[in-house]
Amino acid sequence: MLTVAEAKQRILKAVQPLPAEQVALEATIGRTLAQTVLAERDQPPFDRVMMDGIALSYDAFAALERSFPIQATQMAGDPPLTLEPGHCIEIMTGAALPEGADLIVPVEQITVAGGAAHVQANYMAEHRQFIHARGSDHGQGAELLRPGKRIRAADVAVLASAGLADVSVARQPLVTVITTGDELVRAGETIEPQQIRMSNGPAVLAMLTEHGYTHCRLDHLRDDKAELAARIGAHLDESDALVLSGGVSKGKADYVPDVLAELGVTVDFHRISQRPGKPMWFGTGTRGQAVFALPGNPVSTLVCCRQYVIPALDRMSGAATPPQQFANLTEDVSFKPELTCFLPIRVVTSATGQSLALPVSTNTSGDFAALSGTDGYVELALEQELFASGTTVPLTRW
Ligand code: AMP
Ligand code: MG
Repeated sequence: MLTVAEAKQRILKAVQPLPAEQVALEATIGRTLAQTVLAERDQPPFDRVMMDGIALSYDAFAALERSFPIQATQMAGDPPLTLEPGHCIEIMTGAALPEGADLIVPVEQITVAGGAAHVQANYMAEHRQFIHARGSDHGQGAELLRPGKRIRAADVAVLASAGLADVSVARQPLVTVITTGDELVRAGETIEPQQIRMSNGPAVLAMLTEHGYTHCRLDHLRDDKAELAARIGAHLDESDALVLSGGVSKGKADYVPDVLAELGVTVDFHRISQRPGKPMWFGTGTRGQAVFALPGNPVSTLVCCRQYVIPALDRMSGAATPPQQFANLTEDVSFKPELTCFLPIRVVTSATGQSLALPVSTNTSGDFAALSGTDGYVELALEQELFASGTTVPLTRW
């Protein structure tokens, strides 16, 4: 049986980055950048005035002159004027510094009377104050963003400032989530006492959405070999990835592995030495589609989705691998060896700034209500049986 690390490695090796596409600047949020972004111009592109006030000569101010006839008013966006000796120019935040001016005095420090600005007698000023010098943030051509960056609000500002109306981003994978099981009934439909609510479909879809994968759809299939073959086949043709839930264990209605094989999906592995999620199955379609068949137990499904499906989709969209996080256990945990344990936890930060992992016991791998208070899970290595309180362990947030 594969270890957790081997399984992840094989999945990441099997999936390839999708080609890039151009999208409008406004549609880039949450997408993964597929291009390098260089500065269009120096930033700021000119000596930028940082206060509403007056622009004047520092030498005149240093020579104790305090009254300056107002030569003109220059607004933000106006071409820069040339300052006449002994004068000042009324100036607005964001305007280009007038030629010959090297001092800004804020409007709060002046009074205007008789066509002149009078600076408060006790006001002290420094040479070039409130002037944001051209190129002081970065020069033209500076590398601002690199491929693999997940685009957030501040990145959209950078893209806009670089003048990009259209941006190259990785194509979103089309992911089809397929739940299986005759016993399952969707929310909103009448349910018999012996039936079970279908929760994995909406939960997996929600997890994909939380991670920025919104190009997803959902289907629910009965445990019927012919129906499974027909519908999974159709989804396989149209999708970049399939996430199946249920039907991969050793029960008599667990047809999923056989059906996938019949559809030409090449099995890469079946079963991982982990709990929950031991029966997980992974393979690739003829076009390289990633096919994840997750055990149906709700805790197993969510853990396997976060542990294997999300990193695979990240790789397909060219996203940079985030660094592994860690946390210290707050109590002793013992776990049967030979399987890696994914233990659901809450994360709190201690008074000294450490991340602490508080184990939350799930009764069984079907006890998903307990998951709702958790932040993620920690990975307890298979070689070890006892993990003492304080042990530092790898942490994955949902
Ligand atoms: P399976 O992997 O199909 O044997 O399912 C294992 C357990 O998980 C069974 O108790 C199923 O009823 C339950 N289960 C499977 N799929 C779902 C689902 N989509 N939503 C909720 N429970 C499920
Ligand atoms: Mg089933």
